[in-house]
Amino acid sequence: MAIDVSKIIHAVMEGSKIRESKGIIPLFGVYLSLFSVYYYNRLSFDFEIKMGKPREAEARALLIKAAQECGYATFQGIRDSWEWQQVVAPMVENQEDQILGFVAVAVAFGWGDLAVEELVPGEKLVIRANDSYEARGYLEQYGPAKSEKCYMLRGVAGAFMDLIYGSDYPDGLYAFSALETCCRAKGDTCCEFIARKSPYRPNA
Ligand SMILES: [Zn+2]
Repeated sequence: MAIDVSKIIHAVMEGSKIRESKGIIPLFGVYLSLFSVYYYNRLSFDFEIKMGKPREAEARALLIKAAQECGYATFQGIRDSWEWQQVVAPMVENQEDQILGFVAVAVAFGWGDLAVEELVPGEKLVIRANDSYEARGYLEQYGPAKSEKCYMLRGVAGAFMDLIYGSDYPDGLYAFSALETCCRAKGDTCCEFIARKSPYRPNA
């Protein structure tokens, strides 16, 4: 059975109507919240700016690493959840379907119109987005960028491969890493993320 993206999006939309008293959404085994994209983007991009030119690369690496670690833990929780077992697992026939399921959940979370363009098992994942919230936010708040800006999605692309083809959780983190090969924030027609096996493992 193919992964029914609309069914997954519908399940997340329905489930997200339930809120705790502080607005937290307990769904897919993790705690979610509605968050201002403008605020999150400001935190991320202003951090990079405040770090200054000499430490720009370090700032980017930290943001990507944080996203990958967060994506790794979050989607581990998601695939262990009751909702995943009920809604997604019946559609999953192989490991590659799990990645398609992850991407569908990420789309439902509002991270962008992500689509898997290529998946070579154990080797390579290519994800494209025409409307990443980071690229859109950067363009709106800072104008055209000189480099790619979708740090969260770049980290998450690596995390998806870590979870499926890396060592068992929690030892598979950073087994893969992703590059953003083109980005709307710098004038490209879409954002593209390519995850491959890491040449090295941070903190290993
Ligand atoms: Zn981008």
